[in-house]
This record gives sequence, C-alpha cells and structure tokens, in this order.
Amino acid sequence: MENNCIFCKIINKETKAEIIFEDDKIIVFKDIYPKAPIHWLFVPKKHIPTHMEITEEDKEIMGHLHIITQKVAKENNINHYKLIMNCGYEAGQRVFHIHLHLLSGKIMGEV
Ligand code: 5GP
Ligand code: ZN
Repeated sequence: MENNCIFCKIINKETKAEIIFEDDKIIVFKDIYPKAPIHWLFVPKKHIPTHMEITEEDKEIMGHLHIITQKVAKENNINHYKLIMNCGYEAGQRVFHIHLHLLSGKIMGEV
C-alpha cells in the first residue's frame, strides 16, 4: 500500500471501482475513462511504480498477471484484444502503479 496511490486505494476498497475479477495477487477493474468498448485494467496488488522497477522477485506476479489476463479474456469471450503497459510520463503513464490495459470491442490499428 502506497499513500496517495489511486490503484492501492481501489485494491484496499477505499475507492470504488467496477471490479471484474480479483484474487490474492491481481485485481481487474473497468477503466474510468474507457478508450474502447471494453477497457479493463489488470493490476498486480503489489505496488510497483513502473515497468522499470520490476525485479526478479516479481517474476511470479508478472507471469500470473498474463495468465489471469488470458483467463479473464476467455471467460468473457474476448478473443481479440490489445494489451498496453505505459512506462513513464512521456510514454503516457499517469498512474504510477503498474497495470496492463486490455482494449477490445472495436477495430484497432497497428501500434
Ligand atoms: P496510464 O495512463 O497510467 O497508463 O493509465 C491509467 C489509467 O487509469 C487511465 O486509462 C485512466 O483512465 C485510469 N484511471 C485513473 N484513475 C482511475 C480511477 O480512479 N478509477 C478507474 N477505474 N480508472 C482510473
Ligand atoms: Zn499503488
């Protein structure tokens, strides 16, 4: 838990979100400003500020994040999706607690 981190507050249920899935390591909720018909955020419960701060110790969490992303997508019949993780302000990161954006439900171009 990091003070003033909006995603830590969602994880701790101090701030509301539309939660899609949750286990001991991951929470998935709808993005408040969706950029596609489906725009969900896949968030490790461990507060890691950016992709640059991931360590060897986080290997299991990061692997689990991808397995859960695939499982939640399949369970919701989402078969085409774009995954994005912004790293750093200049790349568009605004919440400094790592998360994968899952975008789906419209035709999206190449990156
Ligand atoms: P970033 O720009 O850091 O990659 O992505 C942050 C995302 O979090 C944005 O798409 C933004 O709309 C979303 N977001 C920011 N604050 C909240 C919030 O309080 N609740 C929810 N559900 N999403 C949020
Ligand atoms: Zn946090």
